[in-house]
Amino acid sequence: MSRLILLLIILPLLSFSSPKHVKERLIELSPGVFGVLGTYQQVNKENRGFISNAYFIVTREGVFVVDALSTYKLGKELVETIRTKTKLPIKYALITHYHTDHFYGVRALKEAGATIIAHPWSWEYLESNASGRMFRARLDILGKDLMRGTKLLGPDVATQSSMSIRMGGEVFEVHHFCKGHTDGDLVLWTPRRKILFAGDLVFGGRVPFLGSGNSRTWLLCLEKIKELSPEMLLPGHGEPLVGKDNILKQVDWTANYIKDIRTVVERLYMEGYDVEEVKRRANQEMLNINPEYSQLSVFFEVNPVNAYYLYFEIERELLERQ
Ligand SMILES: [Zn+2]
Repeated sequence: MSRLILLLIILPLLSFSSPKHVKERLIELSPGVFGVLGTYQQVNKENRGFISNAYFIVTREGVFVVDALSTYKLGKELVETIRTKTKLPIKYALITHYHTDHFYGVRALKEAGATIIAHPWSWEYLESNASGRMFRARLDILGKDLMRGTKLLGPDVATQSSMSIRMGGEVFEVHHFCKGHTDGDLVLWTPRRKILFAGDLVFGGRVPFLGSGNSRTWLLCLEKIKELSPEMLLPGHGEPLVGKDNILKQVDWTANYIKDIRTVVERLYMEGYDVEEVKRRANQEMLNINPEYSQLSVFFEVNPVNAYYLYFEIERELLERQ
């Protein structure tokens, strides 16, 4: 059975219905390691913005959280969900990257006492016009009620390379491998458990978003992930990946998508098409390479947007090469 067909069996489980509370999507992935899995959709009122995953690891001294979900409300539900498993303090929260669906719930984790960790790019992002624009766009979609209390808060601690944290006899390694999905992606690696919390660097069964990082160095990130050889990979969206072979396949799948769309956009660019035409042709060109792309959730919506951003990235690369 091809991996795409396998994913198609799993996908409906995530895209089927929108939970009323984050805790309805709680699963224990490994002893003491929990995830709440968002719906496989674009943000809308019905899913309340719960379209990404968050995770938490319970140690004997406290809790380590990965990502904060899309709104203050959802962040509070995440804290309530953690409280169904432990009364120990929530000590740390790593934000894998400053995209709306991963950090808008930060306030709730800070109120719960967590030290927030992210890449320093997050501060740059918060000061940019883009962050204000994104906030207004989210407000337009979700409305005041669902967005109530959401504040754009930066991290307490930032790293642009690596750091290790010891808590409850466990080591938590935070790494920035390279610019990929954004300019400031961090991953969390737990060496003893061999679990990698990969943020949006690896997408399982969903088209990766290429609009705010660097697709060329993203491919290098994926090589580093393969070198770690995780036994479980927990992505920012979609199904947790279990087993080295399955993980390798998904990492390669993400790499192949990026390589394919880079090839398509570069060729169309060289043929002289403007950005709007490249965007318009992107889906058919990708389907010519691999018809199975059509079966991926949000392919038809996200792929043209990726082509749009890549057009400028590839133009910059070509200018630099001259
Ligand atoms: Zn993202």
